[in-house]
Amino acid sequence: MESDIIKNNLKIIQKRINRACDLSNRNKNEVKLLLATKTVSVENIQFAIDEGYSLLGENKVMEAMEKYEVLKENRCEWHIIGHLQTNKIKYALKFADVIQSVDRIKLANKLQNRCEYDGRNIDIFIQVNTSFEKSKFGIAPERAIEFIKQVSEFPRLHIKGLMTIGLLSSQDEKVRDCFKLLKEIQLKSQALELPNASFDELSMGMSNDLELAIEEGSTMIRVGTAIFGQRPFPDSYYWNERN
Ligand SMILES: *Cc1c(COP(=O)(O)O)cnc(C)c1O
Repeated sequence: MESDIIKNNLKIIQKRINRACDLSNRNKNEVKLLLATKTVSVENIQFAIDEGYSLLGENKVMEAMEKYEVLKENRCEWHIIGHLQTNKIKYALKFADVIQSVDRIKLANKLQNRCEYDGRNIDIFIQVNTSFEKSKFGIAPERAIEFIKQVSEFPRLHIKGLMTIGLLSSQDEKVRDCFKLLKEIQLKSQALELPNASFDELSMGMSNDLELAIEEGSTMIRVGTAIFGQRPFPDSYYWNERN
């Protein structure tokens, strides 16, 4: 049964988290598991929620909104982890607790304006393109600090941390460099002591590289495939869309 597979996969992930924490002398409570649920049915998401998980990450706003309508009684925390088009901001703010993919000033500006209009604040992460791949979203690492300073000026946006997607590579050290770079940017950001910003969270690590990310300081891994199985579309469908 599907629910047994998901249950078992979650156990395996938890073991991987525990082992990686042990190896790097970290407390396993420091690493949260966010369920990356793009393309996953509400039934399957519900199975994972029933196992005690409540952090959900969705890539596409419209897909997420439909699922939210069905799952909202569960009191989960909803994160947008995919590229956010500015024309979707008003919908995202109807259900999202955190926008992890803030990576350009136009987006930050429009988020600020919409929050102002709605009379509320929003927690955000800054997405950094630590793999330097042209196809990937995220602010360029060399521009990250300047960008963070600018975003911190928006009173309704509360920066809680940084997010990155590691290089898709079988060479562990190259992947690890991405996570090291995000950690460096976190330390530099914390040193700025910006009001309105905390940088406690490092959202990094996915199905194939979560151990490396945990070793380098991840506080939130985003896992899809290793829990819910292969997706019907390649990830480029979610990561490369330009708008
Ligand atoms: C899909 C996705 C994930 C999860 O990736 P898996 O390899 O399926 O674990 C994590 N982060 C983002 C931004 C994603 O789009």
